[in-house]
Amino acid sequence: MGADYIEQDLQLTKDGVLVAMHDDTLDRTAEAPPGVPKRFCSGPVIKRTLEQIKMCDVGSWFNEAYPQYASEDYVGLKIPTLEEVFQRYGTSVNYYIETKNPEAAPGMEEELLRLMEKYDLIEPAAKDWQVLIQSFSAASLQKIHALEPSLPLIQLHSSTETSESIRAQLDLVLTYAVGMGPSKTDVDAALVEAAHARCLDVHPYTVNETVEMEALRSLGVDGMFTNFPDRLEGVLGKDAAGGKTGASLAAEASKACRGS
Ligand code: CA
Repeated sequence: MGADYIEQDLQLTKDGVLVAMHDDTLDRTAEAPPGVPKRFCSGPVIKRTLEQIKMCDVGSWFNEAYPQYASEDYVGLKIPTLEEVFQRYGTSVNYYIETKNPEAAPGMEEELLRLMEKYDLIEPAAKDWQVLIQSFSAASLQKIHALEPSLPLIQLHSSTETSESIRAQLDLVLTYAVGMGPSKTDVDAALVEAAHARCLDVHPYTVNETVEMEALRSLGVDGMFTNFPDRLEGVLGKDAAGGKTGASLAAEASKACRGS
């Protein structure tokens, strides 16, 4: 579908395993199949072991919520670990990884860096932005920056903020990040200009409508989070450099802007 990056939201299990999971809790998307205790598939991820979580069906809810996209293949799907994602895609894709709920899961950052090291992703992340790490938590990003200063980080900003309140934070953000991810409704010309004046890239979330994509492109954003990469590719056109090439060009431009 033309996506330059695939996104993983991270949660940590009780026994210290990183899994790719959006919500802090299992309640919305996990179901216990017959014979599996219901409590294994409900409550906070951080209170469950990987063994318990692996018993849950996380595909059936999607078929019920989105019948237009339903598929039999989704029934019985399991929550993947980050390591399984790395094993499946290796260095063939770009990853955009979010540390979620890091306050409740100390050690998440160290485990992420350990896995990136194991799968040879530290150097391509630093050099070509093959991995971008995003978080709403400045503390989580600052911790990663202290552990591995070469990694490109993206500071997310809550939709409760405004262009003005985000602009007031950019001088701090640029001490540890290469870019920022605002809610699409907070993006205006002043925000893009202030970010670019500091060599910070702007990646708004979550942009699903073609008209929004076109408007944000006109404002000069550098990338977008979307559930519909094919729509964005249609807006950008086939000439736009994507995938690994696009990521490494962005990395190069960022470094040139910073003079490093
Ligand atoms: Ca996310």
